[in-house]
Amino acid sequence: MIDEKLIVDLRQYILSKTGILYFGRIKNTPKDLMVSCPFHKQGQERKPSCGIKKITDENGVAGTVHCFSCGVTTNIDLMVQQILGPLYNQAEVESMFKLKLLVAQSVLNSKPKTNLFKLPDKNTVTESTLRTYRVYHPYLQQRGITKEVAEIYDIGYDSFNKQITFPIRNINKKVIGIGRRSILHKKYYYPMGMVKPLYGVYELPKFIRYLWIVEGPFNLWSLKVWNKTGVALLGTGTENQYKQLLNIDCLGYVLALDPDEAGIKGTYKLGEFLLNNNKHNINVSLIPFGKDVNDLQEEEFKNISVVTYKQWKKLNQL
Ligand SMILES: [Zn+2]
Repeated sequence: MIDEKLIVDLRQYILSKTGILYFGRIKNTPKDLMVSCPFHKQGQERKPSCGIKKITDENGVAGTVHCFSCGVTTNIDLMVQQILGPLYNQAEVESMFKLKLLVAQSVLNSKPKTNLFKLPDKNTVTESTLRTYRVYHPYLQQRGITKEVAEIYDIGYDSFNKQITFPIRNINKKVIGIGRRSILHKKYYYPMGMVKPLYGVYELPKFIRYLWIVEGPFNLWSLKVWNKTGVALLGTGTENQYKQLLNIDCLGYVLALDPDEAGIKGTYKLGEFLLNNNKHNINVSLIPFGKDVNDLQEEEFKNISVVTYKQWKKLNQL
């Protein structure tokens, strides 16, 4: 028996893997669950036209998938494989959803030919793709990100997935992927397989006094609104990004990672790395616990103390 909860759980799982919402609409009918078909309109059709059979009866077996618009016939297990493409992990999917058992008796195996989700190739994001997202969404204003800053970083919005979008460029200015952040929850999505570069390098001015180093793009955009210069690690930082940092000319550093356990670890790792590479004038901004840069009002931000890295280590007994 296939029920709506299974599809909702699958939707969440696929979203967490790909950052793309499939089965956006689900309609429960007596024999089928009608869902937005993943195989046409990039999986984003408004009126669900793809039926997933709920029970086995004289007309077929449970888990059979048929789209009345594009004509694809497959089963739920193969459909998930095709949606996830290179991200498909059979052991994980089976332990969570047991799809193979559900379709064990299925004879309808028109095996999908191509994967829907593809690992991004280098430099594949085109200008026309970026253009489709280019809009100043009110959420940005609500988070204090001005139109000017949105333009500098080419921040956009994907209305179907309700995600703020931003191109990620490498130091050669090439767009190597689109980062996304949901406006419903604060989760970031990055293209799978992408080696995270330092974010914001291309937008740096020629002459830098203090280079601020933060985790997420929203923090960096806030700093830009307040006329600070910096880069974001798109996380707590990787060796690869550290090495990139060494190439940036500046008079000093302000580490402003999130004040949580991961952020403290990241600050320590980064601070030690800079010290070991003969960098000086390293400082840490004492963001209040439970907040990040983007949570602050400008006045609050101005009142935050910045201490030297050495003092910070003492404060944290490191
Ligand atoms: Zn279809």
